[in-house]
Amino acid sequence: MKILSLFHCLILGWMLGPVPGAFAADPRPLRALLVCGGCCHDYPIQKDLLKRGIEARARIVVETVQQGGTSKESRIHLYENPEWAKGYDVVIHDECFGAVADTNWIARILAPHQKGLPGVNLHCAVHSYRAAPGDLWQEYLGLRSMKHGKATPIQIRTVDDRHPIIRGLGWREWLTGNEELYNNVQVFPTATVLQRGAQGDDDCAVTWVNRYGSTRVFSTSLGHFNETVGDDRYLDLVTRGILWACDRLDAGHLKTIAPVPPLRSTSPVTPAKKP
Ligand SMILES: [Zn+2]
Repeated sequence: MKILSLFHCLILGWMLGPVPGAFAADPRPLRALLVCGGCCHDYPIQKDLLKRGIEARARIVVETVQQGGTSKESRIHLYENPEWAKGYDVVIHDECFGAVADTNWIARILAPHQKGLPGVNLHCAVHSYRAAPGDLWQEYLGLRSMKHGKATPIQIRTVDDRHPIIRGLGWREWLTGNEELYNNVQVFPTATVLQRGAQGDDDCAVTWVNRYGSTRVFSTSLGHFNETVGDDRYLDLVTRGILWACDRLDAGHLKTIAPVPPLRSTSPVTPAKKP
């Protein structure tokens, strides 16, 4: 029998067409900007826990910016540039600037999100900019919170089992270590609550998604202490939230998780204060 020539192979390949997935290149990693800094939290450690935990779980490259010292009033250098989010696929807000009340400044932060840039908001990002009049930041979040209780364990439970972020998550309930439960003054109609947390007599939404115009926004109010931020359950949740916000929650972007060596804090965790 005659051996097939290269020409025949090419013709055969053209007739059969592409085999699904056989030659699919790895998707381009998403570029995420993690913004942290300000009051009350161990950001030098937490920003590395997040970067390493997220990059181990998904095809996401996380670039971190920590600015603003430890003040809750800082207007950070990053946002002075109107093009501050240029080139990123998603921004992870993890800053703690609760006393910044300038609506023009907040509008500057929101501008790229209004144009469609996915947003992710962790813990004190939910309390940032809450001193401002109106609901500019809260309409983006999908929720207004104004305070939190004492740092004691939170019993988290799932309330939306069918949402893609939750569906592939490896847990449904979690009794955290000491953590801050953010209250709910208002949940906006654009928001969908995924998880609630109970702490004593209080019971609040702790994880939710929001439609900000056509922009996807994921938020969790959890993440005060390093022990929470470094927990696999937290990092799994946040990673899935990031991918969902980017509309890239798929097998091509999720990795098989490699173990990440633990990071240890070099300084004692700042006691919980009103951020
Ligand atoms: Zn906190």
